[in-house]
Amino acid sequence: MSKSSRRYKAAAISKVSVLGRCDHVRMPRVRVLMLCLFGVLVIAMILGFYLANDTTSANIQVHVPDLTRDKLSHKPSKPTSAQIRRLVSQVNGQRLWYSHLRPILIERLPGTKGSQAVREHIISQLSLLSAGWSVEVDSFTSPTPHGQITFSNVLAVLDPSVPRRLLLACHYDSKALPVTPGALRRVFLGASDSAVPCAMILELVTALDVHLRVHKQQSSQVTLQLVFFDGEEAFEEWTPTDSLYGSRHLAELMSQTPHPPGSTHTTLLEAVDLFVLLGLIGAPDPLFVNHFDNTARWFDRLISAEKRLHKLGLLSSHPVEQSYFKKDVYLGPVEDDHMPFLQRGVPVLHVIATPLPSFWHTLEDTEDKMHAPTVENLTKILVVFLAEYLKL
Ligand SMILES: [Zn+2]
Repeated sequence: MSKSSRRYKAAAISKVSVLGRCDHVRMPRVRVLMLCLFGVLVIAMILGFYLANDTTSANIQVHVPDLTRDKLSHKPSKPTSAQIRRLVSQVNGQRLWYSHLRPILIERLPGTKGSQAVREHIISQLSLLSAGWSVEVDSFTSPTPHGQITFSNVLAVLDPSVPRRLLLACHYDSKALPVTPGALRRVFLGASDSAVPCAMILELVTALDVHLRVHKQQSSQVTLQLVFFDGEEAFEEWTPTDSLYGSRHLAELMSQTPHPPGSTHTTLLEAVDLFVLLGLIGAPDPLFVNHFDNTARWFDRLISAEKRLHKLGLLSSHPVEQSYFKKDVYLGPVEDDHMPFLQRGVPVLHVIATPLPSFWHTLEDTEDKMHAPTVENLTKILVVFLAEYLKL
């Protein structure tokens, strides 16, 4: 036996006596107690060090994002009926109408005071929420048939540092209708196009505020981004250069912004799991169809949410279980703010009523044509959709 092994043995014995037999050694009680405590502390430190190292290596493995693989393999959660009831009970139709919608129902042509007022309204509603949204105004100027105009998209991200994003969008600008010479100029309000969809988005994040706050604290791999586009409408005839001013600008900007920050091969555009665009919503008995095969499984979640809420008796003025979302019909594509994103390969879910309402782009697209129970029902369906996608 070598010297070193003897030393080891001696140390091992003293360790046993400290840990297990200290009550039998003849020492003053206080000293014994101190020795016991010291022993426990040493073991706790060794264990703590080991566990900390282990957790770090596990985190590194989990947190390396592969944006494309992760978005394709993303699975929704399966909320219970009790959870669904709790979630949709937060939707407040009165708040949607009077706090969110009414202030948007003014003329809001890009670059005007009306546009600024609506933008300020959207930002102030988001600032009231406890989830803590990062809000940005993305302003730029562009030539238009009416001269050089300043446009401003409103962007809000729940947690900008999260790798992936579910993007929920609408446009808040209103259309400049041609003025008939000699006729009185009346204001186009665009209630369904798209004041109601914007109000629905504000109500969605208000109803889910507490859930979104908790979600943000849980360091999830997917966060929620809102986009309120400016300049969707053409000033004259719809052409590739006279339309979609805000979305063309944002898609380009996102395609040039590295994400996660510092990435050399992915941008904010790849970070978008799914681009959900709401448009022309508000009239009674709307029909929504699936526009894209690659997002059909997410359209199916809307169908399923409608049926489930109907069966639970949580929708009003909704006589049959599948009324709004139908898969077996297709009425052709609708050009809208999703186009610049779709063309760059972003998966799109286009929630737009087709056929287009009879009052589309007329002075009749007003508040009195909107059907409050339908708007509230669709908001509840989207609450379920968001809760499933984000696993709230
Ligand atoms: Zn329009």
